Amino acid sequence: MSTDVSGWSELIGDAARRFALRRHRLFINGAWQDAADGGTFETLDPASGTVVTSVADAGPADIDAAVRAARSALEAVTWKKMTPIDRGRLLNRLADLIESNAQELAELESLDNGKPLSAALNGDVAGTAKIFRYFAGWPSKLEGATIPVSPSGGRTFLNYTRSEPVGVCGLIVPWNFPLSMAAWKLAPALAAGCGCILKPAEQTPLTALRLAELIDEAGFPAGIVNVMTGRGATAGAALVAHPGVDKIAFTGSTQVGKSIARQCADSLKRVTLELGGKSPNIILPDADPAEVAEAAAAAIFYNQGQVCTAGSRLYIHKKHFDRVVADIASKAQSIRIGPGLEAGTQMGPLVSSLQHQRVSDYVSIGRNEGGTTITGGGRPHDRPEGYFFEPTVFVDTRDGARIVKEEIFGPVLTAMPWDDIDDLVNRANDSPFGLAAGIWTRDVKEAHRLAAQLKAGTVWVNCYNVTDPASPFGGFKESGWGRELGRKGIENYLETKSVWINVD
Ligand code: ADP
Repeated sequence: MSTDVSGWSELIGDAARRFALRRHRLFINGAWQDAADGGTFETLDPASGTVVTSVADAGPADIDAAVRAARSALEAVTWKKMTPIDRGRLLNRLADLIESNAQELAELESLDNGKPLSAALNGDVAGTAKIFRYFAGWPSKLEGATIPVSPSGGRTFLNYTRSEPVGVCGLIVPWNFPLSMAAWKLAPALAAGCGCILKPAEQTPLTALRLAELIDEAGFPAGIVNVMTGRGATAGAALVAHPGVDKIAFTGSTQVGKSIARQCADSLKRVTLELGGKSPNIILPDADPAEVAEAAAAAIFYNQGQVCTAGSRLYIHKKHFDRVVADIASKAQSIRIGPGLEAGTQMGPLVSSLQHQRVSDYVSIGRNEGGTTITGGGRPHDRPEGYFFEPTVFVDTRDGARIVKEEIFGPVLTAMPWDDIDDLVNRANDSPFGLAAGIWTRDVKEAHRLAAQLKAGTVWVNCYNVTDPASPFGGFKESGWGRELGRKGIENYLETKSVWINVD
């Protein structure tokens, strides 16, 4: 592994190049500093596997410093006494700065994660600004209630509730949508008045670090947001274990999510979890096969399939099965694969060699279980470097097969025919996950009936992978605890206090 910038440096603007090549430090209490033990790790360009730069590797001592900084900033008058309107103003200013630096942020995201630049710009970065903009409206709307309580012991009471910030929040985010996942947590936490420690994924630290600069520029008080690059098993674990942290918000694998939940049980820290998925995407007999084939391909292949809601189990009514599968396969073969920063790229590399290995392993497992790949299945022949993987479509799978049950987190679709609708509902729900589901039909009654029957936190009808800052997002079953975004999302960052006044 060598530092070779020649591949990407010509494809990126000056601002992003300069930023990417810096030696990155930790953002603690409004200042940049090295890890206490001087530790660093490298972030790679997944399109070539070469090193972009080195990043500080936070250890427990650094996490402790960040938690202390967040605690004192939270208790300080500047933040405590800031009016809700002014807190909203800061969030709006941050949204403005994200918009005015959108190209640079998108280039950094594409470089670090591998995703196509257009997706980073129009999806990740535009969505991130929208999240901060939406939550900027919340601080002034965090109302309590007056409750009509009964008199007791001859006394009469006024009872009301207050919504108070939950405190210091540890925000642990994954590498598939690094900037927007950070925003999904930071925006409601800040709107609620919390102090934050953000830990980006070790594979994709760059946009979180640039965001820290923008947070500073927007005028948030020092210490209210600390950005700690580091590994999950050290920095992440130290944050979860720290007694000064009141709440953990985590997005990532189900396995790590479960271990975080177990640790949070010890201190009864508040915890919300957005975990894995294996989402059923269901095509009814009355759907237009050409239209749904296009949409079903996008539902699985978007972001190289590295999406927790990816429509990875496609249930096609038997009447359309052959036609839809053939159309998806030809669509898969026409997708232009290349470095995310290269013009015209429609699918970038996977994020890391580990992820490439995981996806390759699942393809072997699927074949050994009797499945057939009708397209894809490995590295594209013209891409010997980097972590590229072909869009892949499996047929002939058994319902109990591992590739039908387990989350692959790559561009691998399992297409299955169905005949009986009740049987289909059982098959769709026969999963430990319950994050999302898709339904394609022109029959309004059937759409509502199915939407009610599917065990999933989000159901999309005649659309897929749509989100909005105002609409709650999260999972049933092993897909997580709690909801992000919207009113439900901000409630995670608030404690309710009931106040009793004796008015006799
Ligand atoms: P993946 O396997 O897809 O990389 P992970 O769940 O391991 O997903 O990672 C998601 C986020 O959780 C990353 O920021 C990672 O550093 C962090 N993480 C991983 N392990 C732990 C852990 N034991 N405690 C806290 N955070 C962790």
